[in-house]
Amino acid sequence: MEVQVETELQPFSSRYHNEQACMEALIAMKWPNGFVCPRCAHTRCSRLTSRRIPMFECARCAHQTSALVGTIFERTHLPLTKWFQALELFLLPDGISAMRLSQVIQVTYKTAWAMLHRIRHAIGEFDARELLCGDVKVNSDLYGCNPSRPQFSHPHASVVVAGCTVTESGELEQVKIRLVPQKKGDRQRANRHELAAFINEQVDVRASAVQSFLQAYRLYTPLRKVVREAWKSLKRTYVALGTKHLQAYLNEYTGRRRLRLTEGEETHLSGAEGTMWQKLLYIGVAIPAIPYRRLIARQPVQPLAAAS
Ligand SMILES: [Zn+2]
Repeated sequence: MEVQVETELQPFSSRYHNEQACMEALIAMKWPNGFVCPRCAHTRCSRLTSRRIPMFECARCAHQTSALVGTIFERTHLPLTKWFQALELFLLPDGISAMRLSQVIQVTYKTAWAMLHRIRHAIGEFDARELLCGDVKVNSDLYGCNPSRPQFSHPHASVVVAGCTVTESGELEQVKIRLVPQKKGDRQRANRHELAAFINEQVDVRASAVQSFLQAYRLYTPLRKVVREAWKSLKRTYVALGTKHLQAYLNEYTGRRRLRLTEGEETHLSGAEGTMWQKLLYIGVAIPAIPYRRLIARQPVQPLAAAS
């Protein structure tokens, strides 16, 4: 495992091998068409290089800013090289645990945990900006069922509503999975009102044809499969997840899935190359970091035991 991760890191590390290379990549991602003052939108500036982080001073209003302001990297004490490695490892097929990340990039467990949550938060916020639109299917489903033994779902399985868009050729495109708070166990399901709330929140209803599936035996099968794959993937990396942060992990799964699907497409990510990594960096630059206090203050709920 150690060897495998190191091998996968090699081509990347040679490209962003030092702070300056990372910083220049960040600046290019934040201002693809050149500097824009966040205060007055003026485009001329002078670059102050006397500080550890390059600062830009607006030529009109003298406002000073850096490429880190308003990104997941703001106020970080870590070298950007470690952040860039973390972004790449986050994109491994099943992601990476905080324990493993702490070993690979040599930071404390707490730091690695917070870094991964900042990335997860950004991916969740970014996804929230894009509603499901078009041919939309919505399932009332359970997260935590063993796919090989669906008849024995776990008593701590969590009730979710899952939605997706389907292309003309029948492929699943964007997927969203939302926990229904405080509803657990295999006898539970999201009801009509909870499905309606999901559609209201997550679907652009004016531009969509929505079909929702309430009964367990009649769910839209390809979407049900994605929910089960999410469970398998997250379980491989994190073994057991508490429900306090489970929504963030579900966002991680669907976000990574979407980045993989749209790899190579230009989409709306102006200035971003088509690779998954470039797109994730774009998201990291577009979404401000979640403050640590807000992260740990998320509402605690009952722990989810490792599903059987
Ligand atoms: Zn200005």
